[in-house]
Amino acid sequence: MKTYHTHQRQSLLNFLKKNQEKAFRIEEIVEAMAAESISQSTVYRLMTKLVDDGLVHRTVKGNSRSFVYQYISDEKCENHLHMKCTDCGKVYHLDSSMTSAIQSNIRNNTSFEIDSHTVLLGKCGECKE
Ligand SMILES: [Zn+2]
Ligand SMILES: [Zn+2]
Repeated sequence: MKTYHTHQRQSLLNFLKKNQEKAFRIEEIVEAMAAESISQSTVYRLMTKLVDDGLVHRTVKGNSRSFVYQYISDEKCENHLHMKCTDCGKVYHLDSSMTSAIQSNIRNNTSFEIDSHTVLLGKCGECKE
């Protein structure tokens, strides 16, 4: 039973990882996972777990009550800042040079050290239009 779930968790993770530039509604994930014969209830359960484990970001989409999910955690993600669009919920990765530029700029001017887990909020290019 345990390995069975581990396998499903892995398929789900692979799917999210492969599409990590996208933010999905849970219905879209359920639909994609149906192809792997993973049931809706399993997807819901696994997604909750992945959010708890910090591998997936769950954000509210704009002013709606629906959530979107996006794979986020990578060892690399420990070392750079992220930007989140408050409209579509998509998370963008800032590269490390931009991250250190921002960090050192703020450090030099305020002696404040920004945590690299900081998520900057704003509007992405697509939602700005
Ligand atoms: Zn990242
Ligand atoms: Zn957006």
